[in-house]
Amino acid sequence: MAKSWHTEEPNADRRDTKPYDSTNIFARILRGEIPSNKVYEDEHALAFHDINPQALVHILVIPKGAHVSWDDFGARLGGGDCRLRQGGLLRRAQPGMVTRGYRLLANVGRNGGQEVPHLHVHIFGGGLLGPMLAR
Ligand code: 5GP
Repeated sequence: MAKSWHTEEPNADRRDTKPYDSTNIFARILRGEIPSNKVYEDEHALAFHDINPQALVHILVIPKGAHVSWDDFGARLGGGDCRLRQGGLLRRAQPGMVTRGYRLLANVGRNGGQEVPHLHVHIFGGGLLGPMLAR
């Protein structure tokens, strides 16, 4: 199968991550302006079903802070708190997925194909996922 990735452009060291935009769709979900199918929430994070699932179970986990990327998340919180606690979240929200297995994915920035500029982790499960998910 043909690979779809491309090499970097000459000026690839410039930073492509934009400042946080509070009108992004996940920020609006956090503010309750747009509904979501919530599976878990605590003071740090919200988890909800993806509107366009790519597996039997497809959950998005988002931090409640205004973070675009992992860099941003780590830089603002410092190393000690740099976590989304997916393990604990999954044990409470989808216990079967913890025992049978799941996949975590984070798309970051332009090269990572991030569509929504609010840090998020995809959790896929609910059945055999195969070697890699097609998008
Ligand atoms: P990304 O490509 O940024 O990693 O993933 C963004 C994800 O957000 C996509 O899987 C997309 O289906 C999901 N998404 C976009 N808009 C909404 C929405 O309004 N509600 C929910 N629940 N998911 C959304």
